[in-house]
Amino acid sequence: MERVLIVGNGYAGLQAARTLASKEGFSVTMTSAEKCPAYIPHLLPELVAGKKEAADLSLARGGEYAELKVDFRAGAQVMTLSAEKRTALLSTGETLSFDKALIAAGAIPYVPQDFEDLPARCENVLLMKRLLDALLLKKFLAQGASRIVIVGAGRVGMLLAEALKERGVSVTVVEIGPEILATMLQADVAALLHPVLRERRHLRLCTGARIESIDAENGRAREVRLSDGTLLPCDAVVIATGVAPNTGFMENGPAYGEGLSVDHRMETAASGIYAAGDVVRFETITGRSEVGQLAQNARLQGEIAARNIAGEKALCPPSFIGNVVKLDPVIAARIGDIDGTDQADFRAGRSFARVTFAGHAAVGVQLVGDPEDLRGLAPAVLKKIPREDLRDLLQGRLDLGLAPLLAARSHSWA
Ligand SMILES: Cc1cc2nc3c(=O)[nH]c(=O)nc-3n(C[C@H](O)[C@H](O)[C@H](O)COP(=O)(O)OP(=O)(O)OC[C@H]3O[C@@H](n4cnc5c(N)ncnc54)[C@H](O)[C@@H]3O)c2cc1C
Repeated sequence: MERVLIVGNGYAGLQAARTLASKEGFSVTMTSAEKCPAYIPHLLPELVAGKKEAADLSLARGGEYAELKVDFRAGAQVMTLSAEKRTALLSTGETLSFDKALIAAGAIPYVPQDFEDLPARCENVLLMKRLLDALLLKKFLAQGASRIVIVGAGRVGMLLAEALKERGVSVTVVEIGPEILATMLQADVAALLHPVLRERRHLRLCTGARIESIDAENGRAREVRLSDGTLLPCDAVVIATGVAPNTGFMENGPAYGEGLSVDHRMETAASGIYAAGDVVRFETITGRSEVGQLAQNARLQGEIAARNIAGEKALCPPSFIGNVVKLDPVIAARIGDIDGTDQADFRAGRSFARVTFAGHAAVGVQLVGDPEDLRGLAPAVLKKIPREDLRDLLQGRLDLGLAPLLAARSHSWA
C-alpha cells in the first residue's frame, strides 16, 4: 500500500480523497487543522447573519470519511512537513510518515502587522476565514453585539456587511484604499455602486481611512480610532484584509504570499509532493501566474493531483479567475484581469461593463449591473476574443456558441 497524506480538508483535499477512494493500493490519511468535517466557506457570512445553519454548510456527507476509507485526523494541524524526509509533525505530537503528499491547506488570513496580536488578545476581534470565526461572531450578535466594525472592504468584508443588512446591527467598513472591492474593480467602476450602498441604512463606509488604533479593555476591543480623529465604538471587529497561501509549515517552502508552484500535473518541484487549491500559484485563463482563490479551481486541482498520485498523466487546465459580489439589486463582478494594455467601456444589456485588453485580446471584464449580462461577456474573456469582435458580440452579430443571452439584447456604448 502506498501511503498518501492529504494536508487540509477543504474543497481540494476532500475532492482528492474522493478521487483516491476509487483507486486501488492507497492508504490515505487526511489531516485538518479544524475539528469539523469539510464545509463551504463562502456561506460563512450567511451563517453569521442567521440565514444559514451550520448544517447547511456541509461539504462532506455524513459518514463520508469512513465510506472513503480515509483516516481523517480532525483537529490535527501539520506543524512541519518535510518533503525530503517524507514526514509531517502534527499538533497532536504525532509524526506521520508518507510516500506521497497533497498539500491542500488553503489560505490564511493576512492581518496587518499593527493588529497581528489583536485576535489572540481580544475575544471580540475576529477573522472571517473559518467556521469557528463565523460561529463566534454569530454568538456575539446573539448576545446583543450591535456595532460591528469590519476592517477591509474587499470581497469578504463586503459580503459580510451585505449579509448583515437585515440583522438590525450597524456596520462600519473601514477601508484604507479609495474604493471598495479593489481586487475586483477599478476605483471609478466601484464608484458606480455608491447609489446602492447609500441605500444601506445599516452601513457606514469609511474609505481612504487609516486605523490609528483599536482600543481594548478587559480583553475586548471597545473603539476603533481612525487617523482623522473619527472614533468608532464597537462590540466586535472583523479583520478582513485578505489572505495568503498557507505554506508556513513547509520546510524550505516558498516565501510568504508566494504560493506553491506546481506543474500542470499539480506536482511541486519535490517529486511526489503535489499541491492544489488556494495554497498554489498556477497559470490562469489569461496566461498569468497567480495564487489560488476559487472553490471550483481547488476542486478540479485536487482531483487532477489525486489522479496523478495514482499514476495517471492528467493535466490541469488554467485557473478560472473571477469574483461576484451581490449587492441587491445589482452584482459587482470581475472575470480575468483588471489591468492590461488598454480598456474600453460598454453598456451591456442593463449593465456597465469595462473590458480590459492585452494587445488586441479581451482578457478581463468588470461589470456592475445584472448577472445575466455577465453571462454574455464571460465567453469573451475565456476565448480572449479580439477587440474588433467585441462590438459584434455586444450587438448580437457574433455568436461564440456559449452564451448568446447578452448579445441578444445589448447595444454598444463605446
Ligand atoms: C467568506 C468567504 C467567501 C468566499 N466566497 C467564494 C465564492 O463565492 N466563490 C468561490 O469560488 N470561492 C469563494 N471563497 C474562497 C473559497 O472558499 C476557497 O477558494 C476554497 O475554499 C479553497 O479551497 P482549498 O481546499 O484550497 O482550501 P480551504 O477550503 O480553505 O481548506 C483548507 C483546509 O486546510 C486545513 N488546514 C489549514 N492549515 C492546515 C495545516 N497546517 N494542517 C492541516 N490542515 C490544515 C483547514 O483547516 C481546511 O480544512 C470564499 C472564501 C471565504 C472565506
